[in-house]
Amino acid sequence: MIALAPITWRGAPVPVITMWSGEADLRKPRVLRERWGGDRLLIIDDGVDAPGVGRPLFTRLHHGRCRRVVQARLCQICAQPLGKACIAISHGRTHAGHPLIRDGYPMHDACAGRALTACPALQRGITDRSLRCWLVPTGQWARLWVKIGIATGKDADERVNDMVRGTDGQIVSGPDLVLLRHTPMRADDLMALAAMEDAGR
Ligand SMILES: [Zn+2]
Repeated sequence: MIALAPITWRGAPVPVITMWSGEADLRKPRVLRERWGGDRLLIIDDGVDAPGVGRPLFTRLHHGRCRRVVQARLCQICAQPLGKACIAISHGRTHAGHPLIRDGYPMHDACAGRALTACPALQRGITDRSLRCWLVPTGQWARLWVKIGIATGKDADERVNDMVRGTDGQIVSGPDLVLLRHTPMRADDLMALAAMEDAGR
């Protein structure tokens, strides 16, 4: 397994969970073809772990790295360890009354602010008021494994299937996180914090 490290493209940080063109067989995505809501984000895994190769595909997430950052409690943007608290972002979905995190995995507050400033999809969420930012004590979440469809027949790739198979043998995506303790944060405050940190560098 390759160690995760901060990564940039054309001088700007790229979330470590972002898929890169060098990792994806775009003609034939073989594993996760789940579309999330209106933004059509894909979480995908062709069994290649090569962040930084090619160009970043901001509307696709690398399945294996999503799992690893959550498991190791790393920031999904910079891949460094989270502190006692972190920020998670949801888009209005809930599970049993708690915020449901599908792609806004935990991150540092300044990293969240930079992502909110730079990402057009997050900006749209701010504009249409669907986006929610949460301050979360690190680890105060439950993982939900979502069962997914997978390529079968001549396109099936059992090597990849094995990678994403859960302990019960089901092919799972995600993880989705259900926040157990959470305090709302204003996106504006996070963006201002990031701007202050960057100005002080
Ligand atoms: Zn970070």
